[in-house]
Amino acid sequence: MEHIITTKNLSFKYQSSEDTQQLVLKNLNLEFEKGQFIAIIGHNGSGKSTLAKHFNALLLPTEGKVYVKGMDTKDKNLLWDIRQTAGLVFQNPDNQIVAAIVEEDIAFGPENLGIPPDEIRERVEYALKVVDMLQYKDYAPHMLSGGQKQRVAIAGIIAMKPECIVLDEPTAMLDPIGRREVISTIKKLNKEEGITVILITHFMEEAVNADRVIVMDDGKVILDGTPREVFKEVKLLKKIGLSVPQVTELAYQLKEEGFDVP
Ligand code: ADP
Repeated sequence: MEHIITTKNLSFKYQSSEDTQQLVLKNLNLEFEKGQFIAIIGHNGSGKSTLAKHFNALLLPTEGKVYVKGMDTKDKNLLWDIRQTAGLVFQNPDNQIVAAIVEEDIAFGPENLGIPPDEIRERVEYALKVVDMLQYKDYAPHMLSGGQKQRVAIAGIIAMKPECIVLDEPTAMLDPIGRREVISTIKKLNKEEGITVILITHFMEEAVNADRVIVMDDGKVILDGTPREVFKEVKLLKKIGLSVPQVTELAYQLKEEGFDVP
């Protein structure tokens, strides 16, 4: 089994935080299998975003190690290899789109890598096709809907040909239609393009699509398993303030009432 990302005794505290003793990540030991779709869920402030930033060396461990395809994120010489292997997509697409035209925006990353123009053109077309936005290649990003803009931001990462894509609450600012578009794109990245997906979300419904669900609370992993295994833990999830998907909630209530539910 090949691991794309590994954390070994990872602990982290923000130096800027008023209480400098406060650990935001607490001794995390995780291994992410290549090709999987992993969802990380948890309420606000549980440390999800801080963890995600460790996956492409935007943050470095206070203690312990993070390896991306075996590369130590603390090794400065490997920074660009690490960032090319694991691409990060953020919540707000407006902060990620830099150019005035969609296709120029997608070309921006590969251009910075010094890739020849022919290959850049191929990559831009491929990336826009994957996110189903090729017909918008000449558009100005501000003409697009939220979901379309987020798909352009994802295409910008795809054009870098990452093996793994880490998405930090990519649907948090979108309406239900935009959320559906982005989630279906994310599924496609994993199932059809074979890209490892790590999706940070607080929408439990989105985690249902994953192969593995990791639940964080107070900088620690408190549940780790298939969606079925994790969503069974209704009481624990509710205790830490996570609302379970409605279907699961219904099944749970029926069970409590003594009905025979699988
Ligand atoms: P989540 O993504 O689960 O909402 P975060 O990783 O953003 O959680 O935050 C975890 C904890 O770290 C919170 O207590 C938050 O206040 C704190 N935190 C996040 N960013 C910073 C920062 N730049 N400086 C200091 N503390 C921070």
